[in-house]
Amino acid sequence: MPEIRQLPPHVADLIAAGEVVERPASVVKELVENAVDAGSSAIVVELRRGGMGLIRVTDNGRGIAPDELPTAFLRHATSKLRCPEDLGKIGTLGFRGEALAAISAVSRVEIQTRRRGDGAGASLRLEGGVPGAVEETGAPEGTTILVRDLFYNTPARLKFMKKDSAETAAAAGLMQHLALSHPDISFKFLKDGQEALHTPGDGRLDSAVYAALGRDFARSLLPVKGGGDGVGVSGFITAPLQGRGSRGMQVFFVNGRFIKSQLLTAALEEGYRNQLMKGRFPGCVLAVELPVTEVDVNVHPAKTQVKFAREKAVFDAVYHTVLDALAERGGPVSPAPAAEAERTVNPREDFFRSMDAKTFRERGTEKAPGSAAPLPSWSTERTGPRLSDVAPPPVPGGRKPFPPLRKDAPSSVVRQKQMEAPPAEKRPPVPAIPQAGAELPGQEALEPRKEAPWRIAGEVLRTYIVCESEAGEVFLIDKHAAHERINFDRLKAAREPPMRQTLLTPAAVEPGREEAALLLENLPLLEDFGFSCEDFGGGTVLVREVPADIDAAGVTATLEEIAGELRQGRSPAERREALLHTMACKAAIKGGWKTSPEELRALVEKVQSGEVRYCPHGRPVAVKITKHELEKLFKRA
Ligand code: ADP
Ligand code: MG
Repeated sequence: MPEIRQLPPHVADLIAAGEVVERPASVVKELVENAVDAGSSAIVVELRRGGMGLIRVTDNGRGIAPDELPTAFLRHATSKLRCPEDLGKIGTLGFRGEALAAISAVSRVEIQTRRRGDGAGASLRLEGGVPGAVEETGAPEGTTILVRDLFYNTPARLKFMKKDSAETAAAAGLMQHLALSHPDISFKFLKDGQEALHTPGDGRLDSAVYAALGRDFARSLLPVKGGGDGVGVSGFITAPLQGRGSRGMQVFFVNGRFIKSQLLTAALEEGYRNQLMKGRFPGCVLAVELPVTEVDVNVHPAKTQVKFAREKAVFDAVYHTVLDALAERGGPVSPAPAAEAERTVNPREDFFRSMDAKTFRERGTEKAPGSAAPLPSWSTERTGPRLSDVAPPPVPGGRKPFPPLRKDAPSSVVRQKQMEAPPAEKRPPVPAIPQAGAELPGQEALEPRKEAPWRIAGEVLRTYIVCESEAGEVFLIDKHAAHERINFDRLKAAREPPMRQTLLTPAAVEPGREEAALLLENLPLLEDFGFSCEDFGGGTVLVREVPADIDAAGVTATLEEIAGELRQGRSPAERREALLHTMACKAAIKGGWKTSPEELRALVEKVQSGEVRYCPHGRPVAVKITKHELEKLFKRA
């Protein structure tokens, strides 16, 4: 056995240094944080060869006294903490007193500094942590630190360095975060002599965002300000239509410190729930401010993680700020830039998540292969839900809204509905395009009702309602998306189980063995959603009742889709939410269907009131085209 010995101090220092200084970007981070803590208003960072050649950080902060210079490079030497109690209220970025010691232990360092008001400055060189003599020099106010030959004495670490370009990119990302977290400081970042970032330092977060993250991202942002319970939240979040492909653009600061936090990410994303397209993530630059005594920043050597004393208060503050900001935007959305606009008019292919629309339609109207029993005879014609739950006054001659049904209501109520509703639900054949002069479906005279400052001009492609506001704006409303959203909100808010329709002949659905098992495992959940099913053996599920507002002919497809949702191992709450999506979609009128003027009007009312803005998948429900935009299209403006 080798004998146990205490490590010589310089080896211990190298090991400790490894924790703080992992790569050039960590050096940049520590030096810039020191410059921020020193009260600088301008900080310049220069990198050569990804920082492996040279890192130079220049600030105009308060400087270091000549006689304290060597001390600053000792381990655990800091001016920011005095006693253990101070650890509970850290208001500076640094506090561990380790950075300068660690950096100088693994490189060759040169520092020049002059305190504000001092006649002369001082300089010091260190090599592998060993200091030379402090010398008097002429230096501008502030501090300049040069770091050369990083990891020259730790070959093991040197081997792990990535390409210069990767190190530069890491440092550049870090500079962005530092610049964003301190809009009052002007940051300049030069890589191999080229300016890569320059923020004005005018104290405005939007200027910093524009300079650091670019014009396009800046344009996609909405300002937010809120908070409560001692937690302030301010900054910017992306508009729902500008969701991003990853979480890379989620930038959070807590008391001016850039941090990574699952809690903050979760609070942000919760605020966007059902407003973003699947697979899209919100972006943000959000500053969270709270008393320093309520955040523990001493949980990670790189200080990129924190602990909150009151996690719920922080979560709620961020969540509500985001939610309020998104709600406040109100009204239908403006036309998005080209790419988004294309998606807006995209036919429904992207809509069904488990299968494309074409397959869905084919499978929904035909008998799915493997379906043992025939579908109920009355439901082979395409039927569809109505908008009775949407339209405020019942349409004369139309279907009356059904009273809410309690789970324990006598089944005769259900039967009664079943007897009268199905024949009434048959859709009339699609009419031919009207002759010139004839009224277009849904078209009405201007000002039909005094209270509505808009009118429906018609419907195009059997999908988009064209609507004109008094203010001279044109809206295109996706009737399916709008109805889906209304259904979703209604289902979500509903306290009662949905109305059901009993199938005249039970449908035998064979969705595949695994899927059948999943459905049968979740019978109570299906029951809650209005499906009464039972095991028919051999991978067949017998369906006796389905929700009143879905197309009974598509029950096989619907249950297959539901099984697909159930397959994705999720929490019960997420599963319920996914089923709400499916049901809202199934209960909605579809693009291509003929819809009555009253139904269209009911949809437009909801959209124009601002109650409905995004479908539950985050696609827009309406796009707005202003008169000016139209004029531009025709080169009139
Ligand atoms: P910490 O930042 O945790 O205190 P560091 O090792 O990074 O530890 O720095 C040690 C001390 O050196 C700091 O507490 C500060 O007093 C001083 N210092 C470091 N960099 C600067 C700077 N750019 N301007 C003024 N003082 C500095
Ligand atoms: Mg420091």
